[in-house]
Amino acid sequence: MLEEIPSPFAAAAEDSYTTFASVKRWKEETGRPAVGYFPVYFPEELAHAMGLLPVGLYGASGRLSLDMATAHTQSFICSISRSVFQMALQGHLDVFEGLIFSNICDVARNLSGITKRNLKERHVDYLHYPINNGTDYAARYLREEYARIGSGLQGIAGQPLGSEQLRASITLYNEKRRLLRELAQLRQSRPWLLPYTEWYAAMRAGLILPVEEYVPALKAYIGAVAARGTKPKDRLRVVVAGTFCEQPPLQLMRTIEDAGCYIVHDEALLGSRWMSDVPVDGPDPVLSLAKAYAENPEPLTVRFHPDIDKRSHDASLLVSSGAQGVIFCTPKFCEPALYDSVIFKGVLDKAKVPYLHLEYEESASSFEHDRTMVETFVESILFE
Ligand code: SF4
Repeated sequence: MLEEIPSPFAAAAEDSYTTFASVKRWKEETGRPAVGYFPVYFPEELAHAMGLLPVGLYGASGRLSLDMATAHTQSFICSISRSVFQMALQGHLDVFEGLIFSNICDVARNLSGITKRNLKERHVDYLHYPINNGTDYAARYLREEYARIGSGLQGIAGQPLGSEQLRASITLYNEKRRLLRELAQLRQSRPWLLPYTEWYAAMRAGLILPVEEYVPALKAYIGAVAARGTKPKDRLRVVVAGTFCEQPPLQLMRTIEDAGCYIVHDEALLGSRWMSDVPVDGPDPVLSLAKAYAENPEPLTVRFHPDIDKRSHDASLLVSSGAQGVIFCTPKFCEPALYDSVIFKGVLDKAKVPYLHLEYEESASSFEHDRTMVETFVESILFE
């Protein structure tokens, strides 16, 4: 479906689901290995600095039957975990010499274990982020964890993690994140210039394309989008919350737009742009990278930081985005998304901002019920 989207990123974005043809090409051309990582966030710089191609694994989104994974797992877990596991069992992830998971939730923890058990010859590692990021030890602990992950990757990269290489990689990824935030800002201020599917293709391609190729392409794309002469329509500005890990079906997002909404903010692939610039001039770039995670003042659903007030963040998001309503799109069986939705709903109740809650699975294909709900939601606000 992404291939039909008029975007220079459409083919790469489609390739990032199950085929990974561009990764195979890159490996043939460079003779270097690739590493896949499970969402929500992974310090891609670490892998890049070691000459590896980091690729985000965000699920097959309906492109595979999940029969094998379903036979291995419980019926009450989210679809992305089953779909990534299905990809592993069916050989779609054979292109990756290494696979990295993390402790974002109980499901992801166990996914790491069963993947390791089923892919015995592969380098499968588990990155344990700090549980409490409000202590002085969190960044120091994470620095050691990153160093351990780097040592593990050394076996497939054939080279250690060097400070100068890491500084150079951080500089490149800072630019990537800056451009993604710029595109997000452009969409927020003039959403009529960028339909959701185009926005998504541009971001999704960044999961798979080498950063050296992606950054100039994204820069040119932002310029082209900003120069469009599209006129605004009378639509409702909405924030879509809950899509930070398992990806919503694109048809669902199209349904929301077609029902009369501009999506001015959402959380899809948030891990790629969540962090701001990582300093490159400190004595220890691994520590800088760890601090950028532990001390990032922006909330992330799967990271606990006791000093971050999610309520005031949610309230300021409503103001900065000019949102007239919020649509919660939460993946079925995703506890982190549901916990955060309770906090956000409290803020919305207080501010008297209307909201709607939809639930999805990545492979869903019928959205008539959602369409009716969103249309009613939009009409109830526009014609109240
Ligand atoms: S979708 Fe939710 S439950 Fe599933 S792996 Fe991601 S955070 Fe965990």
